[in-house]
Amino acid sequence: MLNSHWKIDVLLAGSWRGASSVLLSNGSERILVDTGLPHDAHQLLTALEHRGLAPSGIKRIINTHFHIDHVSNNSLFPGSLIFATQQSFDWCHSLYSDLACTDWERLVLKYYPEVFEYENAKQRMEKLRKIALRWWNSEHVGSRTQFRWIETCGLPYGIDVMLTSGHVPGHASLILNTDQQQVVIAGDALLTRAHDDQVLTMIPYCRPQYQQDRERILEIAGVIVPGHDQTFQNAPSKILATVK
Ligand SMILES: [Zn+2]
Repeated sequence: MLNSHWKIDVLLAGSWRGASSVLLSNGSERILVDTGLPHDAHQLLTALEHRGLAPSGIKRIINTHFHIDHVSNNSLFPGSLIFATQQSFDWCHSLYSDLACTDWERLVLKYYPEVFEYENAKQRMEKLRKIALRWWNSEHVGSRTQFRWIETCGLPYGIDVMLTSGHVPGHASLILNTDQQQVVIAGDALLTRAHDDQVLTMIPYCRPQYQQDRERILEIAGVIVPGHDQTFQNAPSKILATVK
């Protein structure tokens, strides 16, 4: 019988520079949610090894979205299927390809129309562009045959998707049930519990939508795994009072 009660285990804790990577297991299967930056590879493989797992033991990966800090070790798992939205895949690949162009300052407005509403927007984009040029490698994201698009295939049993497109179009936050409670693996729809300004990442694709996504997640009682912060227990009435 299929067991829809998942156990969650954070392999890489989210921080101002690195994304959370989470192992889901239900007794018969293990799934990895997001895989980190290239220089996180050793830490990720060591965390799996400590649990008695080799990359071949991971049959499925789920990517919340395709920013470099969430997908760059997918290629360590050539035998895994990778679940993600095609919308996020296409959008992020196109973004990174345009950031490599000489007229990137004009092209970036296609992706981030609100960019010049932000303080120090140009400097911030220049910095993030340098990081992208250094680390983005579409081969690290996995081969085309590995992908299963959430839009057409859905997610493995017992895992629900909450589309949270404020960060990037097609961003997928995950909701699942453990034995005790609901868990939200927010990805970058909830960067941190309360200090988003300290995270080195792209600005939201759409700021009002990002704020709505964040509020929707913080209305859920249970465990929340932010994209770039420690896991925390959410009690909506208390938390909402402290979040703008
Ligand atoms: Zn991120």
